[in-house]
Amino acid sequence: MTAFTIYQIKQQIWQLTNGDTGGTLPSFWLTDWLLYIIDKPSSFLITDENYELSDSELEQFNTGVAKIQAGTPLAYLTGQQEFWSLNFTVNEHTLIPRPDTEVLVEQVLKWIQSQPKSLDNINKPKRLLDLGTGSGCIAISLAHELKYQLKDDSWQTVAVDLSAEALKIARHNAAVNDVTDIEFVQSSWYDELSTQDEHLFDVIVSNPPYIDESDEHLTHLIAEPISALSAPNHGLADIERIVQRAPLYLRTGGLLALEHGFDQGATVRQILADNGFTAVQTVQDFGGNDRVTLGEI
Ligand code: GLN
Repeated sequence: MTAFTIYQIKQQIWQLTNGDTGGTLPSFWLTDWLLYIIDKPSSFLITDENYELSDSELEQFNTGVAKIQAGTPLAYLTGQQEFWSLNFTVNEHTLIPRPDTEVLVEQVLKWIQSQPKSLDNINKPKRLLDLGTGSGCIAISLAHELKYQLKDDSWQTVAVDLSAEALKIARHNAAVNDVTDIEFVQSSWYDELSTQDEHLFDVIVSNPPYIDESDEHLTHLIAEPISALSAPNHGLADIERIVQRAPLYLRTGGLLALEHGFDQGATVRQILADNGFTAVQTVQDFGGNDRVTLGEI
């Protein structure tokens, strides 16, 4: 095999991605893939253009590029995705955490911090539920923030998923990020949870599947689990189910926080209002789209 230098690979990436002007292949995925293989910081691509890839590095690179071209997201090749400045293992059983979901985490933290301190001793321990946890990114980020930033050890976190495979990854991610006290439950939404007083929650958070089954956007998301992405009834079936039953599992005054589609804000606010939620509000994502709706019961 002829030796390939970083310089030549960079040219190859440029050609493959058409200098980022054409196609749907982001050039940074290919450079990030290259950096992952050679295990170097990004500055290396500038400072060491004459570095020669070994045969196995080159082979790994090319195999990955073919997979990326065929629709595999970079995160499934590296098995890693950063979220809330933490590192998460992901695979084909888990949705890849999106930056927009950080808005959901942010809003829940803001609400928790806005609660009067006088409630601290009444509701103790305080309890948080993440429905459809996937990689665990929401539950783990929240538990991590509560424990290490807010230094509040009065919270218990429960994370639910239907997929045993996803829960395996989520448990691993909790251990890697030092929040081993999260309780993971295999359940279809609330089905395996109790409505007894001491098991009620102060916060329920979820990033459920919400994309309409006929949405063209799904054709670009072929690698991720469809059950985590799409739902019947214009993408609203799971959101409705979560909202309708949330009052049974929340303490009075508790928070429900949901991620949803950019065009579902008004409908989700209505669903919350119809189910007795107050102080209902929608918050935008980093792109300025409706993304998170919150309400109190
Ligand atoms: N926001 C994701 C996307 O559009 C979907 C996440 C979800 O369905 N919960 O790619």
